[in-house]
Amino acid sequence: MRSLKLSVKDLLSAGKPGEEVSIKGWVRTKRGNKQINFVALNDGSTINNIQIVIDVPNFNDDTIQKITTGAALHVKGKLVESKGQQNIELVAEEVEVMGECNPETYPIQPKKHSLEFLRENAHLRFRTNLFGAIFRVRNAMSFAIHKYFNENDFNYLHTPLITASDAEGAGEMFRVTTLDMKNPPLTEEGKIDYSEDFFGKSTNLTVSGQLEGELGAMALGKIYTFGPTFRAENSNTTRHLAEFWMVEPEMAFYDINDNMDLAEDFIKYTIKYALENCMDDLKFLSQRLTDEEKNKKADEKSMELIEKLNFVLNEDFARITYTEAYDILRNCKPNKKKKFKYLVNEWGVDFQSEHERYLVEKHFKKPVIITDYPKEIKSFYMKLNDDNKTVAAMDVLFPGIGEIIGGSQREESLEKLLGRMEEIGVPKEEMDWYLDTRRYGSATHSGFGLGFERLILFITGMGNIRDVIPFPRTPKNALY
Ligand code: ATP
Ligand code: MN
Repeated sequence: MRSLKLSVKDLLSAGKPGEEVSIKGWVRTKRGNKQINFVALNDGSTINNIQIVIDVPNFNDDTIQKITTGAALHVKGKLVESKGQQNIELVAEEVEVMGECNPETYPIQPKKHSLEFLRENAHLRFRTNLFGAIFRVRNAMSFAIHKYFNENDFNYLHTPLITASDAEGAGEMFRVTTLDMKNPPLTEEGKIDYSEDFFGKSTNLTVSGQLEGELGAMALGKIYTFGPTFRAENSNTTRHLAEFWMVEPEMAFYDINDNMDLAEDFIKYTIKYALENCMDDLKFLSQRLTDEEKNKKADEKSMELIEKLNFVLNEDFARITYTEAYDILRNCKPNKKKKFKYLVNEWGVDFQSEHERYLVEKHFKKPVIITDYPKEIKSFYMKLNDDNKTVAAMDVLFPGIGEIIGGSQREESLEKLLGRMEEIGVPKEEMDWYLDTRRYGSATHSGFGLGFERLILFITGMGNIRDVIPFPRTPKNALY
């Protein structure tokens, strides 16, 4: 007998007819008659189930009754060749029902549930084929990200989640405090006195690890962060979460072109990793997407999932400046016919996701990197170009997603950086630690942030960001 800890994945890939095995898992479905039952057993190791064959008269009625969808089973028996979907199946000799699952009350039935229903039962949705596939892919992608950076000599740097710097996105941050909200200490001017708070100052959850990441890059050369990020923006979209995971590489001696090369190489590596390691799950996800879109008109259907992943892998991303993108958008049909919600008619406007998607899906028909944005719509730390109007920013736009990466070459000149901070009103005193990178041994450097869930959306073909993170946090929703 082989080890007790064999997984269904092991059995399906390496089990041989004739072997005696023991396996544990949950019932996905049961069918059959008074003589013979076929149970599809799944333990989460793969989207595929092992079929358990149960010769009903050999077991007591009670056991057979308790084998219902969702029940946890321990099965011992012999592997035999199968003519079904898999090469082998397991003829049960002993069946123990470890945990019953009342079919009257169990919300997850062996039928198709809507994504909305599953979102409301997110604590149980892991048990469906769909969410099993999504979260296995998510796991594989996390691993691929660490593998990529490790193979390319990046240091994984842990930047703080609680931060005292609010330079990035005032107003969009979640406050961290232990003050009594009913009766906070006040200063003489009647403002809340944060000097009495836990950290002796006002603190928030981080919106990005970049500024701290730069400190690491300016000594370790190449670093990346990969951790939770928090934004209190009240955008109830299918692309925004209040708590999401961001990957932020930061590299000394990289200019904007090196930065773009890295971003493209990095994304392609993760996609390739998915194709090489997650094919069973991707096939399932592809079928889901095809079914989902079967009633759409031909020109509204998205490309088949695996074809789309290969397509992106094999295309060079288009690289254009903001000004070039602006010209394309200003002159395009939907703009002229006023089909866009926000019209593009003044250089300097920020692009909305409808514009980004037009460029990617209609104009270039492949991923696009836009650089050199007007400085007014980008952050203070981005390198000012010689035209004094634009900054060395880059956004990577993806089909179906819009912005997946935002990054830039950083302003390395202390003088120019101070000038920008002054213009925008970023407090200098609190940022002194950051300015030291420019005071002492400043150098060209660049970095970007990839929204991990947006990458998972792209790879799984899912449409709502709430479905690719186990426990979504969105405005008015923080269950579990
Ligand atoms: P957007 O314009 O889509 O709101 P952003 O410009 O605010 O994004 P950045 O600050 O550039 O985003 O963050 C880097 C990346 O993090 C984005 O490209 C995106 O992939 C991801 N991201 C940003 N905000 C969110 C969010 N609220 N939920 C999930 N991912 C996000
Ligand atoms: Mn951005």
